[in-house]
Amino acid sequence: MPEANPFESLQEQIGDAGEFLDVGDDVLERLKHPERVLETTLSVEMDDGSIETFKAFRSQFNGDRGPYKGGIRYHPGVSRDEVKALSGWMVYKTSVVDIPYGGGKGGIVIDPSEYSDDELERITRAFATELRPLIGEDKDVPAPDVNTGQREMNWIKDTYETLENTTAPGVITGKALENGGSEGRVEATGRSTMFAAREVFDYLNRDLDGATVAVQGYGNAGSVAAKLIEDQGADVVAVSDSSGAIYNADGFDARAVKDFKTETGSVSGYDEATEEFSNDDLLTLDVDLLVPAALENAIDEDLAHDVDADVVVEAANGPLTPDADDVLSERGVTVVPDILANAGGVTVSYFEWVQNRQRFQWTEERVNEELEAVITDAFDAMTDAHEDAGTPNLRTAAYVVAIQRVVDAYEGSGSWP
Ligand code: GLU
Repeated sequence: MPEANPFESLQEQIGDAGEFLDVGDDVLERLKHPERVLETTLSVEMDDGSIETFKAFRSQFNGDRGPYKGGIRYHPGVSRDEVKALSGWMVYKTSVVDIPYGGGKGGIVIDPSEYSDDELERITRAFATELRPLIGEDKDVPAPDVNTGQREMNWIKDTYETLENTTAPGVITGKALENGGSEGRVEATGRSTMFAAREVFDYLNRDLDGATVAVQGYGNAGSVAAKLIEDQGADVVAVSDSSGAIYNADGFDARAVKDFKTETGSVSGYDEATEEFSNDDLLTLDVDLLVPAALENAIDEDLAHDVDADVVVEAANGPLTPDADDVLSERGVTVVPDILANAGGVTVSYFEWVQNRQRFQWTEERVNEELEAVITDAFDAMTDAHEDAGTPNLRTAAYVVAIQRVVDAYEGSGSWP
């Protein structure tokens, strides 16, 4: 089966929600395409003096509700269509949690593990130089995504501020604390995944305490979600990364697995594991909760028939193809969509941006409390729409809420030219 194109998946999700909205096809069509996409080739000097070129993109999908907002990804699989899809998902993510942003996304086609720190700094600064005319505190605010973090955000901020001869910490979020970052930002994506899991179990009248959980992907989102869901009393019985999956029916200590991965580079070989198997085996385990926390298209239509979890909470962006989504929906598996479940990252990015604009630092307690309020309010808006509009699943309900808010902003401001 050919890989689903994530941009087509996004357009299909918008079309599905359109059936439950009183929005004209012309307005809906407008919401299926990015406003603009920068495609650039970075030429950067390597440590040996040679010049290497890298393709890079930034897609600004929609700015009706505020500045474009979304991360920058470093991955060999980055493509124009992937960046366009991810930027569109950001529009509906910022809208469903009702923070005043549009959506954007960027990426460089690169495997960062093959480059030295000095090379990565030059590559990042070259990209920041290309981004400079597009970004700004009130224009487009990038953030971390797959394989980028505080270090890259600090470099981008520094490049921008140097070129603009100003200080503008709100030009980018996900920075280190001492460079204008926010408390709670690193853990925010995993924390919202936990809130989403807690809310959906409550909605379904089920107990998260004692539930069995499998987590696919053990990077920032997956490992934090695992430990916080474990703190709710659940048993994390399986986790995986690109090296494969580990299993223990009694549950792992999620923090100890993370320490092991930090030391050795992967979860494979962890001595508390009673079994090791493939990622696909993990995705089809008989568990109460499955958390895909890696990349797009982890579960396609074929695999969806074998998914044996009762509930799926998407920590990754786009882990289910639309066909897989339909299969799970028909089979009665409840899916909490990415645009809500992993929205903690961008929500705390918003808090970071607010703190930067005010030059005032919040406590971690305040950040986490405000995040909890945002995610639980969004969850309630989604389930209300599910019941009121009779959508077949929670994803379509989340899009109904999100698209309506974008349309209201667009129609309220009128069309020009
Ligand atoms: N990359 C994250 C996401 O996909 C965070 C984006 C942000 O903080 O702007 O939601």
